[in-house]
Amino acid sequence: MEREVRVRFAPSPTGPLHIGGVRTALYNYLFARKMGGKMLLRIEDTDQNRFVPGAENYIFESLAWCGIQLDESPLVGGPHAPYRQSERKPMYMQYALQLVEAGHAYYAFDTAEELDAMRERLKAAKVATPQYNAITRTTMKNSLTLPEDEVKQRLASGEPYVIRLKVPRKEEIRLKDLIRGWVVVHSSAIDDKVLMKSDGMPTYHLANIVDDHLMEITHVIRGEEWLPSAPLHVLLYRYLGWESTMPEFAHLPLLLKPDGNGKLSKRDGDKLGFPVFPLQWMDPFTNEKSSGYRESGYLPEAFVNFLAFLGWNPGTQQELFTMDEL
Ligand code: GLU
Repeated sequence: MEREVRVRFAPSPTGPLHIGGVRTALYNYLFARKMGGKMLLRIEDTDQNRFVPGAENYIFESLAWCGIQLDESPLVGGPHAPYRQSERKPMYMQYALQLVEAGHAYYAFDTAEELDAMRERLKAAKVATPQYNAITRTTMKNSLTLPEDEVKQRLASGEPYVIRLKVPRKEEIRLKDLIRGWVVVHSSAIDDKVLMKSDGMPTYHLANIVDDHLMEITHVIRGEEWLPSAPLHVLLYRYLGWESTMPEFAHLPLLLKPDGNGKLSKRDGDKLGFPVFPLQWMDPFTNEKSSGYRESGYLPEAFVNFLAFLGWNPGTQQELFTMDEL
């Protein structure tokens, strides 16, 4: 049976949305409209150290200004509410424990100093990518190396721990990206990523996969900076038993700085001579103001066409498109 197309835009409220983020949202929206599907907004706010006041409202306001209508969101609700990850916290632990139970994840008790020392050792031994993996985990403090009783005792005593994914040592992980084609990565290039942090919060990887599954997402359309995470996500879908409904992936090329030197970033602020934000933004920590397209007098239709035409053209002379035409 054909599933209803469901896409999501999943920003983290770590600052204002820049034009690259709005472009990702626009592509999701246009794809959902074309396919007669649904688009939802999920706020990925599990990294509380990077939370920026006002950023979430800024996201809602920017999308509304562009005319991107959401079928489900923290504001309008929906059948999969809540749509803020901080409000879904208990759910993630349950899946992390399921992975531990099945032998695909493990508890790790290493301190920051011990992790630093491990990286230093690997660097000294000229290991190109010093990481916690199938080889190095054997020398660290975790539930794969410690006696079972000691693990139980550490957990019971309230000692801080994280839960890590047990990435296989030797395996080719393959995924088909709708833009890039087949992507093949060897598992030895992937870290045993932390899934649950010591503060009881999930990391991006676990929360993102659990939510995409529960929210019945069929297509993940996001910036190319997430392509290196995709093989890890494939492993998570497999180990959680969700491979048959794994979404399709499309990783969009990034917007670069005008000189082609690196990706456009929020930090570029007003330095490039054009706004990098849809709306004006005042940094709540420094009170520094950055200009936005709206306050500079651009109409939302012009802004949307500008984004749509970055890296695409219709092959005709038509210069201005309504949202429906796009
Ligand atoms: N929260 C991630 C971000 O801020 C979302 C990445 C994704 O779409 O999977 O970009």
